[in-house]
Amino acid sequence: MAEAEKKVCSFCGRTPDDDERMIEGANGAFICETCVSICYQMLGLDAHDEYEEDTEAEEKTYTEEDFNLDLTPQEICSKLDDYIIGQDYAKKVLSVAVYNHYKQVKNNLFNESKDIDIEKSNILLLGSTGSGKTLFARTLAKILNVPFAIADATSLTQAGYVGEDVENVLLRLIQAANWDVDAAQKGIIYIDEIDKLARKGDNVSITRDVSGEGVQQALLKILEGTVANVPPGGGRKHPHQEFIPFDTTNVLFICGGSFEGIEETVKKRLGKRVIGFGNESTNSDLTNEELYSLVNHQDIQKYGIIPELVGRLPVLACLNFLTVEDLKRILNEPKNAILKQYTVMFKMDGVDLEFEDEAVEEIARLAIAQKTGARGLRAIIENIMLEIIYNLPSMKDVVKCIITKDTVNKKGEPKFIKKEVA
Ligand code: ADP
Repeated sequence: MAEAEKKVCSFCGRTPDDDERMIEGANGAFICETCVSICYQMLGLDAHDEYEEDTEAEEKTYTEEDFNLDLTPQEICSKLDDYIIGQDYAKKVLSVAVYNHYKQVKNNLFNESKDIDIEKSNILLLGSTGSGKTLFARTLAKILNVPFAIADATSLTQAGYVGEDVENVLLRLIQAANWDVDAAQKGIIYIDEIDKLARKGDNVSITRDVSGEGVQQALLKILEGTVANVPPGGGRKHPHQEFIPFDTTNVLFICGGSFEGIEETVKKRLGKRVIGFGNESTNSDLTNEELYSLVNHQDIQKYGIIPELVGRLPVLACLNFLTVEDLKRILNEPKNAILKQYTVMFKMDGVDLEFEDEAVEEIARLAIAQKTGARGLRAIIENIMLEIIYNLPSMKDVVKCIITKDTVNKKGEPKFIKKEVA
């Protein structure tokens, strides 16, 4: 047998053909790069913990050569495929937007054709909770290897109000770049829940939501490109601190929101118009999902985002609602899929873990019922696995554990296969 053929990851079965580096252990065992990374996550070690949900800024040291800014849109899209299931249209829109953005960054930096000002392609991502908006932003930053920070729009306030200044978002990006301001100035910032800043109702003068609109104005400045003064200590607690001048011209902003109820705005805009040619259907035949996919900038403005800010988010991508099939794939397929993580964890106790197809489907159905998108999957599985992980290490003769639909519904134990006694 050829040397390469013998190298199979003892945890997941990958071979070196899958473009993975392998580490050899004692007794001919191997572990691949992906499983090492999964182990890091499970052990709570943050060096490899790119997908930890609550991490707001990931510190890293950057050198100019580290950036991966020469990828083509197709290359970006195919790398997104490794981590994100489905959402093909959004992947295409974002790959092109990111490609265009960094082309403009290179133009700004190397002064190739300064006479033509290429407009900044900040992105607005629409999608329900748990549909993968944050995942998209984070994965793009990872692919391009640029600093990345997340902020929640609801925690921001306009200057003079109690809360977090918009400049603190930039501080997080600087921290993520390990205080390398140059690197941070080419990073990506994801601002979540932008829809929560919407002024309420069409009748703006009466029901104007002052603080929401104030934050929109503050965001507008950093989104369009400005030199902001960032307080290195954060906030207004240290009035005498020196500020860090930070140019946001080359920062890519991705704003995300669920824009709940925006389907009604789309419906109103479409009126009773017939959709398509020779097609009898009217907008009243369209499902909420179809209406959602038709959202345009005008609808976003009607929803309560100020026109100037809408204008600074020229790229609009709408994520699809996740179906049972999508969720099943999310459980199984991404490089760091949840079921793979559990399989590795069980393998460490010498137990093969298997999820019956019906069990996986049931988990997906529960997540849909909870309306938490893919985000709810982990909590559901943790709930199912708690008792099993509590008991299994004490059941010395078990070599295989099969999770069934009944296990998921708490109607039965998993199937335990025991070591055959000779
Ligand atoms: P949102 O920001 O839209 O609320 P997130 O990006 O936080 O949602 O997604 C929650 C979790 O669901 C992510 O950690 C990711 O693991 C998973 N997820 C969501 N959509 C997908 C997808 N299309 N492919 C793979 N995983 C996904």
